[in-house]
Amino acid sequence: MPLLLDDNGMMINHPTYFLTMKCNLRCNYCKAWKLKRNELSIEEWKDCTEILKRTTNLCFISMMGGEITLLKDGLISIIEHLNSNNVQYAVITNGVIPDHEFRRKLLQKSHNISASFDTLTPAGKSDNTMEKHYHGQEILFQAKRYGVRDVLGLITLKKGKVREVRDIINMLYRNGIWVSVNSIHYAKDKSYDWIASKKDIELVQPSQKEYEEYSEMLMDVKKYNPFMHNPVRYFKELPKYARKLNWKCKYWVPAIDSDGTLRPCIYRTGKLKKFTYLDFEDKLDQIEKVFDEDRKACKGCYWDCCHILNTSPKNEIIAEYQHTEVEE
Ligand code: SF4
Ligand code: SF4
Repeated sequence: MPLLLDDNGMMINHPTYFLTMKCNLRCNYCKAWKLKRNELSIEEWKDCTEILKRTTNLCFISMMGGEITLLKDGLISIIEHLNSNNVQYAVITNGVIPDHEFRRKLLQKSHNISASFDTLTPAGKSDNTMEKHYHGQEILFQAKRYGVRDVLGLITLKKGKVREVRDIINMLYRNGIWVSVNSIHYAKDKSYDWIASKKDIELVQPSQKEYEEYSEMLMDVKKYNPFMHNPVRYFKELPKYARKLNWKCKYWVPAIDSDGTLRPCIYRTGKLKKFTYLDFEDKLDQIEKVFDEDRKACKGCYWDCCHILNTSPKNEIIAEYQHTEVEE
C-alpha cells in the first residue's frame, strides 16, 4: 500500500514546504533562523509541486519558514503556480511585511493568510516575540479587509491565558477568521533541530490543571464556532497528551525542508533526510520504510498537524487518522 494512502483509501496528501528558514525576526524560543543551508530555488519548489502532483493526490500544502514573505515575488510566483494548478495551501507568515506594494500584491493573490494570534496582552521581555504578536494580528485583519478567502489565526496555548484564549477565539469568530489551536511543544531529543528546548518554554507551559480547563473551554467553544479547524478529539485529549507529548503519528504528512530534503514531520529530522523531493518519483517504497523507522524512534508529540489547516470537509476524518496512541 502506498505510504500516502490510509486504510479508508484516503490520500494523506498535505505536505509542508519550508520555503526558507531565513527570518526577519529573532523570537527568543526559536532557532530556525540559525540554520544555514543551500535552499531550493523558486523553480525547484514549483518542480516539487509538479512531482507531488504526479506521485500523490496532492491537494493542500502548508507553506512556512522562517519567514516566507522574504521570498517576495518568488512567493507570489509559487502562489500563482498553485492557483493555476488548483492546489489549496496555507501561507504562514509572521506578518512583518514592511514593503507595502508587495504586501498588497500578496493579499490580492493569496487565497490564504495564516498568522499567530496567541495573546491580546503581549508582555514580558521586549524581544521579537512581541512584534510577532502585533504584526500577526494586523495582517489577519488586513487580509480579511482585502477579501482573502481563508484567513487563519494560529493560537498556542499558554499558561494563565484560558479566559483570554476564549476571548481571542470569539473575536476571530465575529470577524470570520478561522482558528487553529496548538499545545506547546519542546525538543524531546536531538532530532529536533530548531524548536525550543523544554527549559525555554518552562515559564509558559500550562499546568495539567490548565490543560483540563483548556480542554473543557475549547470543546464548549467548538460547539458553536464553525471556524475552528481542530477536530473535537484534539481538544478532548489535551489533558492526556499535551504535557507529556506522547501521541504518535501513524501516517506520514510529508515535510520538505528548505534544502529539498525530507523530514518525518515539521519539527523533527530523521533518517528521511537522505531523500529529497526528487525521490518521490521512484523511491516511494524506500521512503515509506525509512519513515516508519523514524516514526518508531520518535518519542511522540501532540502536534495539531499542518494538514488540519485545510478547510476541506474531510478535515475531521484526516485528523482522526493522523495519530495513534503511543506504543508502550
Ligand atoms: S518563531 Fe517564526 S517569526 Fe519567530 S524567529 Fe522563528 S521563524 Fe521567525
Ligand atoms: S509522533 Fe510523528 S508527527 Fe509527532 S514528532 Fe514524532 S514523527 Fe513527528
